Amino acid sequence: MDSARRHHTPSPSHPRLPTRRALLRGGAGLTVAAGLAGASLLTSGTASARPGHGRQADRPRGPLAVDYPGAEWIPASSSNYTAADRPEQYPIDFVVIHVTQEFYDDTLAIFQNPDKAVSSHYVVRSADGHVAQVVREKNVAWHAGNWNYNTRSVGIEHEGWIDQPDQWFTDALYTASAALTADICRRHGIPVDRRHIIGHNEVPGADHTDPGPSWDWARYMKLVAAH
Ligand SMILES: [Zn+2]
Repeated sequence: MDSARRHHTPSPSHPRLPTRRALLRGGAGLTVAAGLAGASLLTSGTASARPGHGRQADRPRGPLAVDYPGAEWIPASSSNYTAADRPEQYPIDFVVIHVTQEFYDDTLAIFQNPDKAVSSHYVVRSADGHVAQVVREKNVAWHAGNWNYNTRSVGIEHEGWIDQPDQWFTDALYTASAALTADICRRHGIPVDRRHIIGHNEVPGADHTDPGPSWDWARYMKLVAAH
């Protein structure tokens, strides 16, 4: 996981939806515009109250809250991601694989803590492969440490520690995560290859080493491709 606080810069108003060209230019206004664009789909007139924040908490809870049918919806704090309207607003080109270096429950607690400025879209539990969705895929989770890659990816956190693969990288974890990644790739048209399913360590500029050298990429990609 990784912080993205620097991308989160509230600003008073952006009355119009930004054009794609404006979004691609980047800059400090980008996140704010993205946040308002996302919020404006759900509410009108109140978006400026909390620019840049997700509005997911205002929506009804239930099975429709998840993008992946097998996931349990355990929402992150709306302070820890950028509301958006993907893939219209940004293409979704990558799945980024992470390892938490935290326990599953502690990871969820971190994502629910509005002071942490970090999130992913999914968290997979080691012991049984249980999948939690914490941020909707249309929104930009803060996991890659790279704004461009955050906007263009779905992030999956895996419970465990990179130097204890035998203990944490279980069959259940690989199997459940591969099914999830296959579903994400299918829904977004992401090619099932290592150019598009990448480790956090492979994000340009990444200073994180997860999922680490013991993550079995050959096994994982075979499992994803089998779906
Ligand atoms: Zn990571």
